[in-house]
Amino acid sequence: MAQRLIVIGGNAAGMSAASQARRRCGRDELEIIAFERGHFTSYSSCGIPYWVSGLVDGPEELIARDPETFRRRFDIDVRMRHEVVGIDLDRREAIARDLVGGGEVRERFDDLMYATGALPIRPAWAETNVHGVFGMQTLDDGAALIDWLEGEPRPRRAVVVGGGYIGVELAEALLQRGLTVTLVEKADQPMSTVDEDMAELVVDAMRELGVHVRTGLGVTGIEDRDGRVSAVVTEEGPIPADVVVLGLGVRPDTSLAEAAGIPLGPSGAIRVDRRMRVPGLPGVWAAGDCVECLHRISGMPVHVPLGTHANKQGRVAGTNIGGGYATFMGIIGTAVTKVCDLEVGRTGLRERDASAAGFEFVSVVAESTNRAGYYPGTRPMTVKLIAERPSGRLLGAQIVGWSEAAKRIDTLAAALWNGMTVDDMTALDLGYAPPYAPVWDPVLIAARKAVDVLHHAGR
Ligand SMILES: Cc1cc2nc3c(=O)[nH]c(=O)nc-3n(C[C@H](O)[C@H](O)[C@H](O)COP(=O)(O)OP(=O)(O)OC[C@H]3O[C@@H](n4cnc5c(N)ncnc54)[C@H](O)[C@@H]3O)c2cc1C
Repeated sequence: MAQRLIVIGGNAAGMSAASQARRRCGRDELEIIAFERGHFTSYSSCGIPYWVSGLVDGPEELIARDPETFRRRFDIDVRMRHEVVGIDLDRREAIARDLVGGGEVRERFDDLMYATGALPIRPAWAETNVHGVFGMQTLDDGAALIDWLEGEPRPRRAVVVGGGYIGVELAEALLQRGLTVTLVEKADQPMSTVDEDMAELVVDAMRELGVHVRTGLGVTGIEDRDGRVSAVVTEEGPIPADVVVLGLGVRPDTSLAEAAGIPLGPSGAIRVDRRMRVPGLPGVWAAGDCVECLHRISGMPVHVPLGTHANKQGRVAGTNIGGGYATFMGIIGTAVTKVCDLEVGRTGLRERDASAAGFEFVSVVAESTNRAGYYPGTRPMTVKLIAERPSGRLLGAQIVGWSEAAKRIDTLAAALWNGMTVDDMTALDLGYAPPYAPVWDPVLIAARKAVDVLHHAGR
């Protein structure tokens, strides 16, 4: 009899695992059932801001593989609009509710792939029946926001609460759609994924674009008129709003797992080993935004919900479920984003992470340019490096600048992943031609500066 794999969650992690398991095992060896409560499979949530702005059409453009493709090409029994509401680990059964037809089904499994993703954080004030308040995680969330933006009366004033990268990207998208946009952030700076000095550059760019950035301001409530949002209430009074987008981060969606007795790790996400197995529960796997993983620099378990990890982890799980051998080797926290043309990249530890992890370090900020000074279109680029003292080992890096800035972080990520010191980095053979870099690449300039600072600090 064929083994049976049940997948909960039909996006990056779940469907990567399902399709990878299928590549290794035919139908006679492995039956695969995937439950997805939403309307879409294998979609790019990362593309939602560009769908909202109108840069890409959607949602079809954002779907890598639809349910029919999975059924036809991968022989996966995809059950759309089915929400798994319970997991019985003793009987090895998943209980799913049909959200359209009603009723529940119980399906037996040998292997269970838990890939429910994350949920947008909603503070108590946002737990409301008022229409026009949106969290953003799935394509269904994106579709609901766009329906609202295109409905009548047409929203004109948007408030984005929270300035993480999702909030910042959506603020830009709403602005490009012609709305007046206010971004409210409780901390002193939005973009807390980079250090304050680097985030300041992002805030300046947002203000130049026309986003009203209000920092150090807490939101306490929502006001409505006839059930439609009319204002966001802050400590300093109301800000009028026809649409509110929450950009307060996400939390792992672990409620089903907790109810079933699947253990969580210290970060609050599901604990897995390098092969994406849940320790102590044979045949139970988890991947994506619902799991925690090892930060290779701090050595700590962390919850870093990104599509790049979800896809890789799903593939690792699927390989192992299919009888192969694969491991997920942890993360170093590399991420890129942009605000209109201003690009932001980060990898490794921020100053506060390096301190919390107990490192002694120096940090340097090097100003440079993206191209040779005489080449048309030359713009400033700021590179920050954080290096361990006295060893000089790179601990983290951040870049803010215009074209050619964000993806330069990959050079630094590769250096970080491989444990390079800033001394080693000064000798890196990086490409140079006037349209792409000055003769001394901004990364090399920053590395040289870090070596100097270490030298003057007596290492
Ligand atoms: C606006 C936005 C921009 C982003 N940009 C980037 C980016 O630029 N780069 C990057 O790396 N990452 C980005 N991300 C993050 C990335 O989208 C996620 O990390 C990725 O989607 C996680 O994949 P996942 O499969 O783990 O979870 P999800 O994508 O959340 O998928 C989980 C699926 O499970 C379903 N589900 C949950 N519970 C159940 C249940 N009980 N029964 C049935 N189905 C269930 C959900 O409906 C959902 O479809 C972005 C996210 C957003 C929202």
